[in-house]
Amino acid sequence: MEPTTPKPKEALFYEKLSDKKVRCLLCPRKCYITENLTGFCRARKNLKGKLYSLVYSKPCALSIDPIEKKPLFHFLPGTRALSIATCGCNLSCAFCQNYKISQGEILGDFVPPEKVIELAKEHKVKTIAYTYTEPTIFYEYALDIMKLAKKEGLKNIWVSDGYINKNPIKKLAPYLDAINIDIKGPERLYSNLCLASLKPVLESTLEYKKHNI
Ligand code: SF4
Ligand code: SF4
Repeated sequence: MEPTTPKPKEALFYEKLSDKKVRCLLCPRKCYITENLTGFCRARKNLKGKLYSLVYSKPCALSIDPIEKKPLFHFLPGTRALSIATCGCNLSCAFCQNYKISQGEILGDFVPPEKVIELAKEHKVKTIAYTYTEPTIFYEYALDIMKLAKKEGLKNIWVSDGYINKNPIKKLAPYLDAINIDIKGPERLYSNLCLASLKPVLESTLEYKKHNI
């Protein structure tokens, strides 16, 4: 029988440590997570010594936006994008406009990757935008949608905080057509208002560029 509810999906980037602890290797936080606890983003949990995404196939937002809202002005201008997000974020910005979904409880409906593609085709959009919160924290879900989208001739764009490690960038680069990285301000803004650091954002921006994105 087809599943009808989201199930945790094993994470792609982590290492197992002693005593059922794990270290997430997806973003620069490199959270060290003991059993039954989640990382900083709250979207990844250690279950019996393995790291799982809690947001796979569990979007909290799905809507149609003009591409200029991303904003991408020189990318298929005048077209629309199917925008998708899950709850959680690897930053915690005091000024977050989407704090209810970025910092709140992990909620969402069951929408598997195939269904997202169906919706994109139904609404005749040209692009799928991974946005609103931070696509890095729903990496496995985004990547599976992106692979299907490519096969269907749809473009993939990320609207991102840029908080991601090099290996995950390398894996997703073949499927990513464009990215808008939000560089929010100087280091003191990142440390005082986002519980983060500017340097990894600048580094990932260069890394994406290296992959011609
Ligand atoms: S993706 Fe989440 S769990 Fe992983 S290192 Fe970043 S904040 Fe921590
Ligand atoms: S990175 Fe974006 S979504 Fe995440 S907390 Fe900051 S403003 Fe909100």
